[in-house]
Amino acid sequence: MTSFAQLLKEHALKATFQRMTILAVIEREGHLNVDEIYAQVLEAHPTLSLATVYKNIITMVERGVLVEVPILGHKSKYEIRKHEHVHLICHQCGAVMDQAIDDVLIEDTLTIAKQSAFALENRQVNLYGVCAGCQEGKASA
Ligand SMILES: [Zn+2]
Ligand SMILES: [Zn+2]
Repeated sequence: MTSFAQLLKEHALKATFQRMTILAVIEREGHLNVDEIYAQVLEAHPTLSLATVYKNIITMVERGVLVEVPILGHKSKYEIRKHEHVHLICHQCGAVMDQAIDDVLIEDTLTIAKQSAFALENRQVNLYGVCAGCQEGKASA
């Protein structure tokens, strides 16, 4: 189990109660949008505003604690940064699924960046489409 206080400290962030709660909520679910995070944070801290929660999320994205996953037609979801993986993202239901990524694929992106003299800072591999569940729904409709 990662200590959230430790994680925040490693990214030069104060381990506030709000941030610890946000991280605990995200870890429990994997990927959540700001509304989903806020709804669950409210259970522990009924007085927190959406603006405060959102500001904390953005700060943790900027410091690299959280990763923002953009979803076409839906609000972005946030996850705790962990070792690299591919996202399968359904633009119908907004589901985000993690899949392991091949080391070779990671190496390839480094080579591409290097060949273009591009100073790579961030990388996210997202595959967009329709999940199995939504495809079934469509077939029976
Ligand atoms: Zn779906
Ligand atoms: Zn993920």
